Amino acid sequence: MSTDGPRLVLATHNKGKLRELRELLRNQVPGLDVDTQVVDAAAAGAPDVVETGVTFAENSLLKARAVAEATGLVAIADDSGLAVDVMGGAPGIFSARWSGRHGDDQANLALLLNQLSDVPDQHRAAAFVCAAALAVPATDGSTGREVVEYGQLEGTLLREPRGTGGFGYDPVLQPVGEQRSCAELSSEEKNAISHRGKAFRALLPSIVEALRAVDS
Ligand code: IMP
Repeated sequence: MSTDGPRLVLATHNKGKLRELRELLRNQVPGLDVDTQVVDAAAAGAPDVVETGVTFAENSLLKARAVAEATGLVAIADDSGLAVDVMGGAPGIFSARWSGRHGDDQANLALLLNQLSDVPDQHRAAAFVCAAALAVPATDGSTGREVVEYGQLEGTLLREPRGTGGFGYDPVLQPVGEQRSCAELSSEEKNAISHRGKAFRALLPSIVEALRAVDS
């Protein structure tokens, strides 16, 4: 059974992520109109979810599960951040609020650079890390299927921010094999190698299968 309404919800309020996901899914699922049937949390009337997990995987699953339960639709969610080797993986799940204020990208970045000011170049390895989760709503007699996939974008931390594109820590991460920071890449170049792109691409077969199963 196919419907005209939303079929897949992305548990986010970030329009950029929704755009990325739609492009990834375009022409991948027979009969799925990505522009009208893949929607974000607000469009699906899903509530905000508090991220109480202690890993990227837990947080992505919490969000996907809550949105699947609230909407009765297949839901996906991601959780991501920067993991710095010499800091034992921090800021990690605290990336968005490292300086104490949620979403203050400039303060987060400035604090991180200060913390690493004495760390020599050969020890400045870091990666953007993403967990992407899929949750299928439970039905009578079956618990909902859940899947988590991961993606990483490895690089080196620069000493000064460079570039004006992107967001968050993009100006200080130089991907392996690149001479530019992530903020100096076009969005197409960044999406092609990004942690989120890799995690969502890895999740693609599960998304296709879940939508088929719900349809049949
Ligand atoms: P979220 O999981 O997308 O909310 O990301 C959490 C935080 O991780 C963001 O606020 C950024 O500080 C950082 N982050 C995640 N992905 C990226 C990225 O692609 N570039 C730069 N910073 C990122």
